[in-house]
Amino acid sequence: MKFKICTKCGEEKSFDDFHRDKNYKNNRTCWCKECTREQHREHYKQNRDRVIAEQKIYYSNNKEKILKRNRSYQLKHPRETWTTGTLHSHAKKYKIYISREELLSFVYDTDSCEICDCKLDWIRGKGKKGRLMRNSPTLDRMDNKNFLAPHNVQIVCAACNTLKHTKTMAEFIDYCKMIAEKFA
Ligand SMILES: [Zn+2]
Ligand SMILES: [Zn+2]
Repeated sequence: MKFKICTKCGEEKSFDDFHRDKNYKNNRTCWCKECTREQHREHYKQNRDRVIAEQKIYYSNNKEKILKRNRSYQLKHPRETWTTGTLHSHAKKYKIYISREELLSFVYDTDSCEICDCKLDWIRGKGKKGRLMRNSPTLDRMDNKNFLAPHNVQIVCAACNTLKHTKTMAEFIDYCKMIAEKFA
């Protein structure tokens, strides 16, 4: 393994701990990733409004390019994109007690709906215009509590999730039984 000394913190670290940059010797930046991140964080803290304004301008000037890049990332990494998006959208309403890595490990393990066993469409994800398809993967809180944790989430198809809605798993199963008995 190759090592390099960070000119900021002075620590010797492996090449993997430095960002790639063609402008530098050995194609690695002088500062390690950790120091670079710390610098970005500090800069953001002190120039918050300006940074946000600049990002907005950058986004509106490069909208097509950014969207295209996002789309190609999404096509190549559908499960990672789903995980990030799902955590992001749930963070607005729920407490999150599951790490991205934990959820991602479930995602890698789940090819079909945990309720009806239909094959989940990870590739297309949400489908056209961001509308959920029948077999789009969605996250279900099994007990309908207001938090996400490894023990209370399952990945189910959009159709099952819509049908289950705010019911707990036990309530949902009773509901299905009730209908099955009625029409038996
Ligand atoms: Zn450093
Ligand atoms: Zn299902």
